[in-house]
Amino acid sequence: MPALPTIYLDHAATTPLDPRVLDAMLPYLGPRYGNPSSIYASAREARQALDEARDTVAAALGAQASEIVFTASGSEADTTAIVGVAFAGRPRGRHIVTSAVEHHAVLHSCEYLAQEHGFRVTYVPVARHGTVDLAALEAALDDETVLVSVMLGNNEVGTLQPIAAMARLTRARGIPLHTDAVQAVGLLAVDVGALGVDLLSLAAHKLHGPKGVGALYVRRGVRIHPLVHGGGQERGRRASTENVAGIVGLATALRLAQAERAARVARIGALRDRLVAGVLAAVPNALLTGHPTARLPHIASFILPGVESETLLLNLDFRGVAASSGSACTSGSLEPSHVLLAMGYPPELARASLRLSLGPTNTAEEVDAAVAVLREVVPLCCAA
Ligand SMILES: *Cc1c(COP(=O)(O)O)cnc(C)c1O
Repeated sequence: MPALPTIYLDHAATTPLDPRVLDAMLPYLGPRYGNPSSIYASAREARQALDEARDTVAAALGAQASEIVFTASGSEADTTAIVGVAFAGRPRGRHIVTSAVEHHAVLHSCEYLAQEHGFRVTYVPVARHGTVDLAALEAALDDETVLVSVMLGNNEVGTLQPIAAMARLTRARGIPLHTDAVQAVGLLAVDVGALGVDLLSLAAHKLHGPKGVGALYVRRGVRIHPLVHGGGQERGRRASTENVAGIVGLATALRLAQAERAARVARIGALRDRLVAGVLAAVPNALLTGHPTARLPHIASFILPGVESETLLLNLDFRGVAASSGSACTSGSLEPSHVLLAMGYPPELARASLRLSLGPTNTAEEVDAAVAVLREVVPLCCAA
């Protein structure tokens, strides 16, 4: 086994489990193993934990407990929102509007509906900084549109979308609006009322909770078809015996994120600024991608012209720096980032991407060390 990376700068891919979250989960992996649907004491304990977790998640989002559907991941929450709402809305039309910079969980769900179920999908373009064009979004809406899905904060470049402004457009036409808030929840105060969204996805492992658990907020009155059929859990919206430990972990992680948000964001934001300044100084022709101000605090993404990003990532890993080229799906292949292409960068630049994403346990020393490593390895990683 290779040594574990010493400097973890890939928090947008996943985050370490907070030990306090693990502590909260352990009883439900141990003695409190009851099925929440059963009627004896250990089951009632599990039911109570589940109910409390649902209340916590709902309160964190400004939602009602009945509007929270627990899922097995952020991807499942996205897929449920898109496919579930599309199927429920089929009698009214078969048109979906999304953006060109969405996560693959959203894009591939839309492609599935187009290929297998005859839906039309409009991909609204973005400007150079990755912001969805509101006028184009409005122009894309028609009488057959049954869903709009635009992410809150982009997982590759960090750009935030004007979701509240989009909600005013969709609301006026009675079209449900979904937002993938997987990167934003935990670091931003996310309130479904203030955003005006009808559906919202989140995932525990992006906010120091466990992998394999997420949630979908579904505004009361919005109809979705279930993807998982069975015992009627989650008010018939998603069958399966509940992942009680995971759900308790999600709720605990959200509660901690809320309580510590200001401190985490201040710390991460300062480290991000230090990192950006360091990288731009260390790599002379480096470009910072994403919106200069309307961005998530933890993601710093760059184009390093001439650099082969896979070679760079391997060299960084060899020196103990864990980083990414952008989305997990594009790393490991030579495909240029669909996000950077949509932002108007040519393929040769979209292939030269580096994403560094920070967490609350990173330090200024780590940032400086990572910048020093980058200065050293970038000249070794230039394409022929
Ligand atoms: C990580 C991520 C997902 C997928 O969540 P999983 O729990 O890993 O399936 C979806 N959308 C965005 C923006 C993400 O960053």
